[in-house]
Amino acid sequence: MTVSIALFTQDLRLHDNPVLRAAADAADEVVPLFVLDPDVDAADFAAPNRAAFLADCLADLDAQLRPLGGRLVLRRGPAAAAVARLADETGAASVHVAAGVSAFAHRREQALRTRLGSRLHVHDGVLTVAVPGAVTPAGRDHYAVFTPYFRAWRQAPRRTVHRAPRALRTSEDIASEPLPTAAPESPGLPPGGERAGRRRWQRYDLDRYVELHDDLAADGTSRLSPYLHFGCLSAAELVASAERRGGSGAEAFVRQLAWRDFHHQVLSARPDAAHRDYRSKGDHWLRDTAEAEAWRAGRTGFPLVDAGMRQLAHEGWMHNRARLVTASFLTKTLYQDWRPGARYFLRLLVDGDLANNQLNWQWVAGTGTDTRPNRVLNPLAQADRLDPDGTYVRRWVPELAGLPGRSVHRPWRQDRPPADYPAPLVDPEAVAARLRRGRGLD
Ligand code: FAD
Repeated sequence: MTVSIALFTQDLRLHDNPVLRAAADAADEVVPLFVLDPDVDAADFAAPNRAAFLADCLADLDAQLRPLGGRLVLRRGPAAAAVARLADETGAASVHVAAGVSAFAHRREQALRTRLGSRLHVHDGVLTVAVPGAVTPAGRDHYAVFTPYFRAWRQAPRRTVHRAPRALRTSEDIASEPLPTAAPESPGLPPGGERAGRRRWQRYDLDRYVELHDDLAADGTSRLSPYLHFGCLSAAELVASAERRGGSGAEAFVRQLAWRDFHHQVLSARPDAAHRDYRSKGDHWLRDTAEAEAWRAGRTGFPLVDAGMRQLAHEGWMHNRARLVTASFLTKTLYQDWRPGARYFLRLLVDGDLANNQLNWQWVAGTGTDTRPNRVLNPLAQADRLDPDGTYVRRWVPELAGLPGRSVHRPWRQDRPPADYPAPLVDPEAVAARLRRGRGLD
C-alpha cells in the first residue's frame, strides 16, 4: 500500500486542486493534511476574522472528503516538523504542496525540502492563474506595471482545470487533532468554505459587473475575495468559467483576477515589498498620531472614509472603491505611513492577503506600481461619484442617517451638524484647494 500526503495551505478545495490530484495519482492512500502552524500567528497572518473563516473552510473540506472515503487530518506545530513526523508515521513516499509567494511560504518550502528531500513535490499554478515568474518581460524577473503584464498574461498558456476527485482513501489509523473553532472579531463575516464560495459564484450576476462594480451602495462586486484568498475557489477555474459565460462583465472580472496575479508575481519576485517601499519616493511619513486612531475608528469627519472603515470593522470586508479612498485618505491626506494602515487592514480583512493588501496599499501610497505615484483621491469628489445619493454612507454611519441625498457627504455645511458626528479632522476646503493646485486630482 503506497501513501502520499496532500498538504493543504491556501488551496482549501477539492475542485481544480493540482496538489490533491497529484497526491491521489501518486499513491493508493492519500492523507489530506492541514497544519496549524504557530509561525503563522507569529507572522501576524492569523487574525481572528481569518481564523474563524479558516475554521469554516477546514470543516467544509473535511465534510466533503468523508463521502469520498477520505477525511482531513489536522496537526499543530511548525509545518515542516509536523509533516516530516506524519510522513514517518505513515511511510508516505511523497508529499505534495502548492508553491507560495510570500517570504513565509518560501521559508516553509525550504524547511520542508530540508526534511523531506526528493519526497517533496511543489506544485506551481495552484494559487494563481499564471505561474508567478512564468510571465516576465525580456531581461527582468517580473513586471512592475500592470498594463503590459495584463497583455502578456492574456497570451500566456493556461493549465488544464481539474475536476474534483470522485474517491479517495485515507487510513482510519492516522491520529488527528480536533478541527479548530474560532470567534471572529467582526459580527458580519461571510461563511467560509468551498461549497459556500461555489454557491456565491453560481448565483453571482456577472452581466451587471461593469455597471455596478464602482457603485458603493449597490454592493455589486462578487465578494469572492476571501474564497480566493483561502483557495476555496481556484482562480484558474473562475477565469475559465467567466470566459465561458462571456460578455463585458466577464472581461472586466477576469481583468481584476489578473490584478491579483500581478500582485502575486511582484511579491514572489520581491518578498521584501510586504514591508518595505517597493519604489521609495523618499516620503517623510507621520506615524501613530491621534489622527490615525480617528481613521481606524471611522471618526475622521469625512463620511465616506468613516463609512468604509465601519464596514471593515463590521464585515471584515470593504468595497474596493472604499479601500482606495480610505487608504488614500490615510496616506495622502493625513500623510501617515502606509504600513500601519496596511497592518490594520490585515487585522480585520477576512480576505487579508499579503500580496494584494500590501501592494494595493503601496499602489495608493505612491510607493508601489502606480505609474502616477502622486495621484491623490479627493474624498469628497469620490463620495459624489461613488455614492451619488449617499445611501452607502447612511448605511454605515447612523449618526448621519437623517441627512438627505448627497448632503450626507458634507455634514459640516448643515446649519446644525449632527452633534454626535465628529467635525472633519482636516479642513475639507483646504484639502480641496490643495488638490486643485494639482497634485494629481482624481
Ligand atoms: P471583485 O471586484 O468581484 O473582483 C474579483 C476578484 O479579483 C477579487 O475577489 C480579487 O481576488 C481580485 N481583485 C479585484 N480587485 C483587485 C485588486 N485591486 N488587486 C488585486 N486583486 C483584485 N484584495 C484582497 O484579496 N486582499 C486584500 O488584503 C486586499 N487589500 C486591499 C487593500 C487596499 C488598500 C486596496 C485598495 C485593495 C485591496 N484589495 C485586496 C483588492 C480589492 O479591493 C479586493 O480584492 C476586492 O475589493 C474584493 O472584493 P470582490 O471579491 O467583490 O472583488
